[in-house]
Amino acid sequence: MTMPACRVARPKTVEEAVRILADSGPEAMIIAGGTDVVPNLQMKLFTPRVLVDIKPIRALAGITMVAGGALRIGALNTLTEIVDSPLVQSNYPVLVSAVATIAGPLQRNMGTLGGNLCLETRCLWYNQSYFWRKALGGCLKKEGDVCHVAPGGARCWAVWSGDSAPALLTLDAEMEIAGPRGSRRLPLAKFYRNDGIYRVALGRDEMVTAVFLPARTVGRRGLYHKLRIRDSIDYPLAGVAVALEVDRNGVCREARVAVTAVNPAPLLVNEASEWLVGQKYSPELVERVAQAAIRTGKPLTTSASTPVYRRDMLRVFTRRALEEAWKNGRD
Ligand code: SF4
Repeated sequence: MTMPACRVARPKTVEEAVRILADSGPEAMIIAGGTDVVPNLQMKLFTPRVLVDIKPIRALAGITMVAGGALRIGALNTLTEIVDSPLVQSNYPVLVSAVATIAGPLQRNMGTLGGNLCLETRCLWYNQSYFWRKALGGCLKKEGDVCHVAPGGARCWAVWSGDSAPALLTLDAEMEIAGPRGSRRLPLAKFYRNDGIYRVALGRDEMVTAVFLPARTVGRRGLYHKLRIRDSIDYPLAGVAVALEVDRNGVCREARVAVTAVNPAPLLVNEASEWLVGQKYSPELVERVAQAAIRTGKPLTTSASTPVYRRDMLRVFTRRALEEAWKNGRD
């Protein structure tokens, strides 16, 4: 489990980092907090020639209100900084609720928001040592030509196992991405491709620089529920984020529900907004949305829990989160 030999580049600006990425092509890999990248390198899931350490780029950190009342969170802000930020705490409770569940304190002190949004997808058959994978003959995602989860298929179902992304989906977040042709903005919902191998819409010569939360989502009440093996540290096996705006009469004015760890991408439950907006709380309505969450999630045998249990927990979490957010969401 040693690190592969490679050169480490430490650019001081985004432009310099992008230039290195463009010059090195598939041989380069970005590293920041390293909580996901280092174990993956040790397992020889990647053998880059150049590791681009973006930590020295100061412009990539900072949690600030920008023109128009949007919140900008730099890609290099650590997960602890997000949880501890008064700006995030008072305006975006669903994000604090989700980020506080990521791994343990040590990983949250090191791990960055950009890194958490660009995690590798995970699978029992993939996140193993080189020795283990070689004995199996690899799989579609690496070193092989068959998927052990869905044999006969041509698609990788490795799961998106991040917690911040579903919360940010409920807040209509946008990604800021830098590349050789400048900077572009992309809705987070379009950033994920729902493919275990080609997981994000990011070119080889591009990098995430920040996340924007639009002004219209300030104060949206919400929370996140997560299933994991060890509550102190683990990746999600299923997760649900909910964000609502509820008026003084208890009528829902805006709603988002997102699921994670049950597909190769974090996904919004599309029916939720349409069904919830304009309605008052009722157990029947919440159960209907919970059933839609189950249909959105397609868990397979990619992790150490059964698909049936993970699907059932989507239902439990959706009902629970909607009930709690509704109660806390009145003006
Ligand atoms: Fe490999 Fe299939 Fe797992 Fe993808 S889902 S990592 S192809 S075994």
